[in-house]
Amino acid sequence: MYRLVGLLLSLFFLNSALAKERTTLYDFRFWSSPERTRIVIDVDQGVRFSINQQQNQFTLGIRNAKLLKDTYKKLFFTDQRIKKTRVKRDDTTYQFKFKLHGQYQIKSYTLKPNDKYRHHRLVVDLYDQKNQTTKAVKKPKKSLRKDSVSKQRSSRIILIDAGHGGEDPGAIGYKHSKEKHITLSIAKKLANKINRTQGMKAVLTRRGDYYVGLTQRIRIAQANQASLFVSIHADAVNSRRAKGASVYILSERGGSTKFARRLEKSQNTADQFGVKQKLNSKDQYLNKILWDLSRKDRDTQSQKLGAKILQQMQKIGHLHKKKPQKAGFVVLKTPAIPSVLVETAFISNPEEEKRLNSNKEQDKIANAIYQGILNYYK
Ligand SMILES: [Zn+2]
Repeated sequence: MYRLVGLLLSLFFLNSALAKERTTLYDFRFWSSPERTRIVIDVDQGVRFSINQQQNQFTLGIRNAKLLKDTYKKLFFTDQRIKKTRVKRDDTTYQFKFKLHGQYQIKSYTLKPNDKYRHHRLVVDLYDQKNQTTKAVKKPKKSLRKDSVSKQRSSRIILIDAGHGGEDPGAIGYKHSKEKHITLSIAKKLANKINRTQGMKAVLTRRGDYYVGLTQRIRIAQANQASLFVSIHADAVNSRRAKGASVYILSERGGSTKFARRLEKSQNTADQFGVKQKLNSKDQYLNKILWDLSRKDRDTQSQKLGAKILQQMQKIGHLHKKKPQKAGFVVLKTPAIPSVLVETAFISNPEEEKRLNSNKEQDKIANAIYQGILNYYK
């Protein structure tokens, strides 16, 4: 009987062991990106929910739930996909009805707690349409073609990657500032400088507060035929005293120092934010070929770019490491494209956190990276 019910409500996920337990809805968060809207609800383990999709609307049902007052207020979010939200309650079952602007592909799943989120999370993604990921990546290619071949030849595409975003805040500062906001600000400033330079064009991996998967960032670089990939971050450690900038370049064998390994681990675990990172086997095969062909030259070039950026960073602040460090970050694994990851300063250091939040200082940092890029090409 139980089974039959389960079959009828094919989208009902039951966790029978915890079926009687109540779940509290601790928080609602919404993130809009060009390709999807993500709804995240902090819940207890074993949450029982259903998704019922009708034309231009869907209903998220959560059974045996307790909705906190503060959570309730956050529900009424609108963006380019969500038009209106209504809540219906039937005893302890909540029905959240989302009126939509169009029809979307809906994916839902749960995520376990991590060092940034102490609750289990229920995630619902609304994608514009099937294979949106591939489409989003292919788009820039089309516009490139339109730009005419001659322009493509003459302008260098610099991929600027603002670390983290959306559900992934990155490192949290001593005074609680979030790395994701700082990286985006600096990335946009850097992009503006590049776009004002003749023969150069900047492409950002994200333009707002939403999460982009690590492998997706690489795909964006490849689809745009980028000639450089610069990932912007802010560092954090437990100590308040660590300070200064570092630049990381890729090492296939992984981190060269204990410090690099720790960092590498924290950056690469970002897939806990709801994006499946695995490249499919075909991609892996292709990547391997490209990888082998290009690795040697790419590494030398990355080393050069890293050194040029550090030279400039030294003029505006401390350096944490004087030479480019080796690490195995996923974002740096862009075949054929010289890639660096810049840790601009320590957000965990109160003084540097203040600096990272200052518009003027952000501009100085962006300018140092920009000058480093120019010198690399000299
Ligand atoms: Zn980071």
